[in-house]
Amino acid sequence: MTSAHHPDPSSLMSYAAGSLPEPSAMVIACHLPSCEHCRKLVSEAEDVGRSLLEQLEPVPMSEGSRSQILAMLDGIDPEPSQPVFRTDTGSIPAPLQPMLGEDLHRLHWRTLAPGMKQFVIPAYAGKLRLLKISPGTCMPKHSHSGSELTLVLQGSYSDEFGRFCAGDVADLDGDVSHQPIVDTHEDCICLIATDAPLRFTGLIPRLLQPFFDL
Ligand SMILES: [Zn+2]
Repeated sequence: MTSAHHPDPSSLMSYAAGSLPEPSAMVIACHLPSCEHCRKLVSEAEDVGRSLLEQLEPVPMSEGSRSQILAMLDGIDPEPSQPVFRTDTGSIPAPLQPMLGEDLHRLHWRTLAPGMKQFVIPAYAGKLRLLKISPGTCMPKHSHSGSELTLVLQGSYSDEFGRFCAGDVADLDGDVSHQPIVDTHEDCICLIATDAPLRFTGLIPRLLQPFFDL
């Protein structure tokens, strides 16, 4: 799987620095296994962070805090075992598998509207969800009061910014408005992190929004 659309470099830098909000960090973690381009950027940013740390002047440490840190390090497994996960198009991305299992189709999808189902991922305060949209379905036109980071897991959609296929990421901020439409015969499944509710521009979607929990 190769990607044509990637997260914004500033999102990757924040991810490397550990300062990206958790739902967005999860979307990027799910994109990285299939994207060498972004893995390289993240590892370069981590190298820069490390060399900045190395340039800091050491400060003397009190005997008490030194023994506390040594005791803490004793408890850490030096080589934590890395579980190996399968990540294919249409399956749940590896970083989410411990929480959700492997099969996207076994989740309890909830119908939002004709042609549109969602699964809100527990533990992210409603800010990380999977959307499954049927072929030919058009999402209501919306803008964002905050950012929206989307990773396509299966199928594809097109909007004002181009065509997004499995592995692609759309990194949108609050200034843009778009209307994605699923453009193949296959359901389009996306992982979406939002940091604020979407703002629908049409009247009907605006009226329905409180019931749909979008
Ligand atoms: Zn990428």
